[in-house]
Amino acid sequence: MYVYRKDGSKILTVIFAAERGMEETRRTYECIIIGAGPGGLQAALHLGRYNRRVLLIDRGGGRTTHAAHIVNYLGLHAVSGRQLVATGLKQARSFGTEIVRDVVTRVEKKDVFTVHAAIACYQAPFVIVSAGAVDHLPNLGNLSRFFGKGFYTCVDCDGHLTTGRKLLVMGNSLNAARLAVGMKKMYTDDTALLLTDFDLPADDRQIIEEEEGIRVYSGQPAALLGEEELEGVLLDDDRVIPCRAVMASFGWGLNDGFLSGLPLDRDRENFKIVTGSSNESSLPGLYVVGAMKTGHSQAIIAAGQGAAAAIDINSQLLEL
Ligand SMILES: Cc1cc2nc3c(=O)[nH]c(=O)nc-3n(C[C@H](O)[C@H](O)[C@H](O)COP(=O)(O)OP(=O)(O)OC[C@H]3O[C@@H](n4cnc5c(N)ncnc54)[C@H](O)[C@@H]3O)c2cc1C
Repeated sequence: MYVYRKDGSKILTVIFAAERGMEETRRTYECIIIGAGPGGLQAALHLGRYNRRVLLIDRGGGRTTHAAHIVNYLGLHAVSGRQLVATGLKQARSFGTEIVRDVVTRVEKKDVFTVHAAIACYQAPFVIVSAGAVDHLPNLGNLSRFFGKGFYTCVDCDGHLTTGRKLLVMGNSLNAARLAVGMKKMYTDDTALLLTDFDLPADDRQIIEEEEGIRVYSGQPAALLGEEELEGVLLDDDRVIPCRAVMASFGWGLNDGFLSGLPLDRDRENFKIVTGSSNESSLPGLYVVGAMKTGHSQAIIAAGQGAAAAIDINSQLLEL
């Protein structure tokens, strides 16, 4: 149902009984944001500054919080992902965004969207999905010690840190081989390649080893070696490949299980979600920002997408 403000504008009011026998609750939201990545937080900030009723649902963690040092965000000399998210949450809250810690399990659309989460369900005419992605990683001893401090997964984020270092690129596809060539061109002549569960076609192997001068290993990595600094990678057959930095390329998945069943256009690989220029998906009212949508994934890009989505949603709300 709709209620009218004193100035005559109308907002959607939802009365719902939360699941599991909780008391009936009355809440009004104009937009629900799923995920406190930079895209979701920037959208909350913009919508809050239009005095919109916004709910941000986040389960905690996420790729941005894994970034030890973000140094490519304009205006910030260096910030950790945790700091960026913590500051964003404070900023969003200061303009009235309601923030709940909950895990979204399903989104459905009838007249409006219903967002089902573990503790309650919530409704609004607009949803912004900013739930991010998760890296596929091999099971490696000492990974937590070196993640972001010698062991990297994102060239755009951390490739520069490998400049001039003894580098091992590891992965399980032709993409890893391409990455090794690119890393050598950009950052370090001392680049080797470890392929797991993938045989490089003979022609490619010849180009990479003989023309590019990149040594190729095959095997299963078991552990990262070193105390303060990364010193090498131990394979499960006890061989050791010495290196000072690893760039891993094992692909990644999207945190999109809660969107299953919704008619969303995906890219050619049926992976990332396709949106228009304002980040609205093929399902009207549902916007997608950050790593889940087609295009590059960086904090500053996600933030820009969040701003564009918020401005578009506000325009649509003005026309309701
Ligand atoms: C090690 C590392 C270093 C990086 N360094 C940089 C860098 O230097 N510069 C840079 O620009 N980018 C960097 N990135 C990438 C960057 O952090 C992200 O790609 C970018 O911020 C976009 O993130 P996102 O908003 O899509 O998702 P995320 O930051 O992953 O945020 C998604 C949020 O959604 C929440 N969520 C997921 N599923 C649910 C659910 N079902 N219910 C409720 N909440 C949910 C998660 O808890 C999380 O809080 C780095 C990434 C990693 C892993």
